[in-house]
Amino acid sequence: MSIIAGNWKMVRSPAATRTFFGQLRVDDVPSRHELLIFPPAISLVAAAEARPARVRVGVQNIHWEEEGAFTGEVSAEMAREAGAEFALIGHSERRHLFGETDEQVALKTGAAIRHGLVPVVCVGETLEERRAGMVDDVILRQLDAVLPELALSARVLIAYEPVWAIGTGETATPSDASSAHRTVRRRLAEALGGEAAARVGVLYGGSVKPANARELLAAPDVDGVLVGGASVDPASYVAIALAAP
Ligand code: PEP
Repeated sequence: MSIIAGNWKMVRSPAATRTFFGQLRVDDVPSRHELLIFPPAISLVAAAEARPARVRVGVQNIHWEEEGAFTGEVSAEMAREAGAEFALIGHSERRHLFGETDEQVALKTGAAIRHGLVPVVCVGETLEERRAGMVDDVILRQLDAVLPELALSARVLIAYEPVWAIGTGETATPSDASSAHRTVRRRLAEALGGEAAARVGVLYGGSVKPANARELLAAPDVDGVLVGGASVDPASYVAIALAAP
């Protein structure tokens, strides 16, 4: 079973979201695979209404407060009412373009769990951190920040997304992805216990395309992929899902 998650970033209006789902042909994708789409928040309702039953939707970002004077933000409860079942938390674009901190990522993770959203917590190193041999240090620091929250969740996904591979056409090798995923798994096992850790899905993200999806999805410890650019086109999203072993 593989998880194929599409992060549309700031692409696809409500009308374009309906068009996407109108063109999406998932009947040939084996039912063991789980299909997720993260549209912009404004397109969540359109996605929830237009999606085929087996594609579930999530929100790309939430605020940790329930409501209040936080102009431009969306709460977990609002996202859930709009149809989200999952929440991306700490995507590298949130961390690096909008200055999101480990502490905020932890607060958002807690809010998602309180409101019944499955958190998809993103971790990953920059190129400078990789060159400095700090891949595991960065992943573990980001993971440790959310561990106390994760213990409370029925279901959790972690996305390992090396920052240098996002939107760049550069991809981690399957063995680099496996090695980072093993680091995540080891820490989860220490913190949550082996059985709970084994239930956590660990996704790889970073320039996944139909052409490289199979080798990444077949790599040991890779439970699925988080796909940005290649997920906004229905044919390429389905091609990635069809490549899953
Ligand atoms: C992402 O947005 O999480 C991502 C991995 O983007 P891309 O596939 O375009 O690199």
